[in-house]
Amino acid sequence: MTIWRLSALLFLLTTTAAAAPAAEEWTYWIEPCTPEAVKSAACKPDDPELGKWALEAWSRESGGALTFRASPTEKQARLRIHWANGQGSLYGEAVPIEVDGKRGADIYVLPDTRMLGREMAQATEADLLLRDAIVYLTCLHEAGHGIGLAHTAAFPDIMYSFRYGGDIVEYFGRYRRLLKKRADIAAHSGISDADRSVLRTRYPAKQ
Ligand SMILES: [Zn+2]
Repeated sequence: MTIWRLSALLFLLTTTAAAAPAAEEWTYWIEPCTPEAVKSAACKPDDPELGKWALEAWSRESGGALTFRASPTEKQARLRIHWANGQGSLYGEAVPIEVDGKRGADIYVLPDTRMLGREMAQATEADLLLRDAIVYLTCLHEAGHGIGLAHTAAFPDIMYSFRYGGDIVEYFGRYRRLLKKRADIAAHSGISDADRSVLRTRYPAKQ
């Protein structure tokens, strides 16, 4: 190989590397549901998996433009999911934070659906998969805020705000009907076409 061909090849390699898709990686931490957390927030031991599935759903729907990596400590994580006890807002909350100069969020998710009023308490006591669906969709909505997505007024969207009203039991029920077993949650993102379009505008695939 001549020098010229070698340098041409090197040029090609470096420009290809620069143009390769570079996903935006977010670190995350999910509070383990320890016996203490069970007492304070009534979480279930496998609830952290619902949080993980929510982050995986955003990553999948972004077409790989967003990725999430578990952080060894809470302090290093940009997204931190905590199990809340309902003394704050209902369902969940995302509080913006800054981690190493980057945007992040403290996310609070209510795992105790008995706190959501009598109708929801009865519905979720009779149907544990509905309860898991609500905790999953709450993680998904709040993580959506965490990555910078705003509320919408469209009932099909995961970023829909309940301030606009509507049948909230049905909001969760339509997702619940997609599930036969808990593991099915990992295969149904719950993210609407409009949510995906907003997500992909904010996090375009890097070419
Ligand atoms: Zn919200």
